[in-house]
Parts: sequence; C-alpha cells; structure tokens
Amino acid sequence: MKDIKSMTLSELETELQQLGEAKFRGGQIYSWVHKGARSFEEMSNLSKELRKKLGEHFSLYAPTAVRKLVSKNDGTIKYLWRLKDGNCVETVLMQYHHGNTVCISSEVGCAMGCAFCASTLGGLIRRLEPSEMLDQVLFTQIDSGLPISNIVLMGIGEPLDNYDNVLRFLELVNSPKGMNIGMRHISLSTCGLVKGINALAEQNLQLTLSVSLHAPTDEIRSRIMPVNKAYPVDRLLEACKKYFEKTGRRISFEYAMIRGVNDTPELAKILIGKLRGIASHVNLIPLNDVEESPLKPSYPQVVKAFRNALEEQGIPATVRRTLGSDINASCGQLRRKYEGEKGKE
Ligand code: SAH
Repeated sequence: MKDIKSMTLSELETELQQLGEAKFRGGQIYSWVHKGARSFEEMSNLSKELRKKLGEHFSLYAPTAVRKLVSKNDGTIKYLWRLKDGNCVETVLMQYHHGNTVCISSEVGCAMGCAFCASTLGGLIRRLEPSEMLDQVLFTQIDSGLPISNIVLMGIGEPLDNYDNVLRFLELVNSPKGMNIGMRHISLSTCGLVKGINALAEQNLQLTLSVSLHAPTDEIRSRIMPVNKAYPVDRLLEACKKYFEKTGRRISFEYAMIRGVNDTPELAKILIGKLRGIASHVNLIPLNDVEESPLKPSYPQVVKAFRNALEEQGIPATVRRTLGSDINASCGQLRRKYEGEKGKE
C-alpha cells in the first residue's frame, strides 16, 4: 500500500482520478493528511465509500510520543517518537525570539561515524520516509500547541545520505496546501557529502546550507570525521563556494569546540585562511559531553578567543546558545538511553 503522506498533491490527484474519483478530492485529502489526520475515518467531508476505498489503497500512519521531556530552563521540548516499525527518532522544539524552531531527524541512526556524536554510535538502522520527517514537524506542532515557523535538519542522521526522501520532504512541508513553511525558514546540515551538496546546488533552493566543518586541516578533520577521507577539506570548501555562486545563499559552518583538538589560535588562523573568499558564517558550538566519548568541550575563554580571532579578520562568528541542556537535548542521546532501558526490561 502506498504511504499517502509521502505523496505530493499532484500525485494524489492523479491517483484519485485513477480510482474514478474527481481530481479535487485529492486536494481535500491532502489537506486532511497535512493537518495531522490519524485515520481516513476523520475525513468528514468524504463519503463513507471513499474513506473505505482510501483505506484499501493507501496507508496513513501517525507516530506516538514514547517520551516527552520539557526543559525547566527554557521551555525546550524533546520528543522521542515511535515509528511504524518500532524504531524511534528524536525531535527537539526550541522557542527562539525569531520563532519556534523544530530540529528533526532524517535517519534512524547514522553511518557517518563522527567521533563526538551520539547519533552514530549504533550505526545506521534505516533512512526515514518523507512522511516520517513531515510527521515530526506536524505532530510536534499539534502536541505542543506551538506554531512551528522554522525547521532545521540537524537531528539524528545525515540528510544528504537520504537525499531523495529529504528533497521530497522539503517539497511537502513547503507546499501551500500543506504546512507552507518557506524555504528561507529551513536549514539543512551536512557532515560534508560533496556529491549531495553539488546536487542540492542544482536545485537552487533558498534554504540555508549548514556544513559541519569542525576542523580546518585534513589531519584533524579525518581524525574526528571519517567522511573527510572521502571528501577532504579543500574539496568540501570548493563545493561550498560553488553552492554560494549558484544559490546566492551564504554557507553556515558548524564548528564544535573540542578541548585541545580543534580550538587553538593556530587553527583559528588556518580556518580564517581557508574561509577567505567564501560567503560564510561560523557557528561555534561548545561540544556537548557524550558519555561514551573521551572528547571534552573547550573552556569558555578559549571559545571566546577563537570567536574574536575570526571576527577580527572579518569572518562573522557566533557562539551558539545552549538550550535544553537539562533534558539531554542534543540529538542521539535520548534514543540511545531509551533503547538501552528497553533492552533491560
Ligand atoms: N549529519 C548532519 C546533521 C546532524 S548533526 C551533520 O553532520 O551536519 C547536527 C550538528 O551537531 C552537526 O554539526 C554535528 O557535527 C553536531 N554535533 C554532533 N555531536 C555533537 C556534540 N557532541 N557536541 C556538539 N555538536 C555536535
């Protein structure tokens, strides 16, 4: 059976016509699905017969929240959703001044193997369907009652490793008859899969591309990010430059500050040299402590000095505010904890 929530409006209209129904029914059903209907039964402006027919041809699923944690500090909410096959993914809702932002997962687990990241510890289980990414936005909005205006693809998984499904998700969540979230309100974060960056550039979308750089030399980057062996720093930055030339969108570089690994003044200098000529913004993130990893966050004064060094050379840099630190809000940790507890039951 076809997953109805992963279908575009025009695909749905075509399907409905093939089932002998009027084209406009496609639009009605699409609206129900994108408002978070949990069953065809709820679609009260359709005949009983049509609802039955839909149930015979399409599947419609809604995830359930198996955990919901609310930060006492800042209202950040973290959800652990159970998917139809029993796998779980995390979603985080952050309340910023510029709007409510949801951070969604694109895969169950991750194959990329970054040394500091909790999401990759158990490897990749599977990629998410477009509907499963949409559900995270939709049901976070419904459950929290907070209207979502921004999306970041920065949760579990590597979005460009699930390229086709992510692109379809973007089309769905951006559609005027759906959640209608503008591309300029969406960020996609990648560990640096150059092939995917090049393909995305061709789409010329107005979203923000975030690149997890974390180190300016191949020696250090390969040590903490295995993907660097396939796509070394200079090749990655070349792709970023081209991405900007094609889309006119400046690149946001993520740089997790790891004590004694990537935070020295010498490395700041090398980074400045590498980023010269690339329209960019650097996001310095104090490393989140992951239990299983020996890597530690940089000292605050070291982070500040690193930021100042970049700023002095005309490279915009900000230190990311940490939200939800009391609820394990950094991704991958809640899912691991839950799977661990389940295993003991
Ligand atoms: N796979 C994508 C998106 C998911 S990770 C990517 O690599 O960009 C989202 C961001 O969190 C990435 O920049 C990632 O490098 C960073 N990250 C992962 N673990 C972290 C940790 N322990 N502390 C700080 N940032 C971390």
